[in-house]
Amino acid sequence: MKGPSVPAIFHYACFNLALKSFLHHPGDGRMQPRIPAFSLSWGLLLGAILRLKSALRLEWLARSADRKETGLGAGFGDDALAYFTERVDPEVVRQRTAATLKLAKCNKVFEETAFIGLAIDGTGAGRSTKGSCPLCHPVQDSQGKVTGQIHHFVMISVVGAGITLPFDVEPYGPGDSEYAAGQRVLKRSTEHLGPRFADYVVVDAKFATAPFLHTADGVGMPVIARLKANLPELSAAVEARFANQPPTVTFQHGEDRIEAWDADDFDPWETLDWPTVRVLRYRQHKPDGAIVQADWLTDFSIARLGTRSFFKLAKSRWEIENQGFNDGKNLYGMEHIQHHHPNSMLVNWLFLLLALMIERLYRNRYLHRGTHPILTSMQLKDTLWLYLRPAHADTS
Ligand SMILES: [Zn+2]
Repeated sequence: MKGPSVPAIFHYACFNLALKSFLHHPGDGRMQPRIPAFSLSWGLLLGAILRLKSALRLEWLARSADRKETGLGAGFGDDALAYFTERVDPEVVRQRTAATLKLAKCNKVFEETAFIGLAIDGTGAGRSTKGSCPLCHPVQDSQGKVTGQIHHFVMISVVGAGITLPFDVEPYGPGDSEYAAGQRVLKRSTEHLGPRFADYVVVDAKFATAPFLHTADGVGMPVIARLKANLPELSAAVEARFANQPPTVTFQHGEDRIEAWDADDFDPWETLDWPTVRVLRYRQHKPDGAIVQADWLTDFSIARLGTRSFFKLAKSRWEIENQGFNDGKNLYGMEHIQHHHPNSMLVNWLFLLLALMIERLYRNRYLHRGTHPILTSMQLKDTLWLYLRPAHADTS
């Protein structure tokens, strides 16, 4: 198979995903720009797809590669990218990632499923020992001495639809909180995507708080949340009932045998204004004898969501860990700060997510047509690099 060239991915990005106008108008807040916004915004996308991980390497690419092949147009330096990302309006980038998702849904990218999910979770990234910004959280050693800073954000991703597409982040500073940031990102996402884009939101136990669940109610989205000891009354009631009952149902999940308990008449805790709470407990028996047990709560009715589907939707939360944070950090450089400035970090993370979405849509959907094998993301990156013949190769 002839590998995809940069122009091919560029063409796909611009026309199949209607990105061209965005790249020209990415919310550029510079007053008298010398370098066209298009070069810088495409540079950020290409940098993430090629795993450059630093503005200096992107600058090197812009200077040394065949510019026609990279589509970068003019060369630019590290300072130009820093100046640009400090001034890009993140709302414009967020609107574009949401619009890309809506387009993907229209184009039937998602698997035939009754339930498209949104997973929300928080992480820390961008460790730094130099400088500080309003989003810095101090990192202390065991003696309590501050050894550096880290930045925290909450991310939201499409899950449960056969392709994991993280599309927005919400940073939070030291006086803010993870679940407040989670509420903001959920509200904004449903505004951008529309109320009927997704069917549920799935979260870890730290988001299983009345304010977060009420926010989900407010945007009309059923919640699936992990139930742990941070809700002691409900946890105790669940244990008291399920520990003495045979499972409601047992079924196979791949090689694993699942025992499941499911009841929808638990009392809500004091601050939660739901009439009742439904809880699923599953006990997953692996072939090697290992057992995994977990409890999950929801406001889905049993009529709308059966026990096996509840189990499947709860498991979809792993996608944001594995294909969101792990891939984002290990493959795309999400951990690394390109420029230590709050807006620059946010804009870089958002461009990184847009690049990741384009790459996944291109690799798993567009390249899927025909008989050739699907490239892994590493193979795609390597193929793209092979096409980036330095501009001076013929003359040296
Ligand atoms: Zn900082």
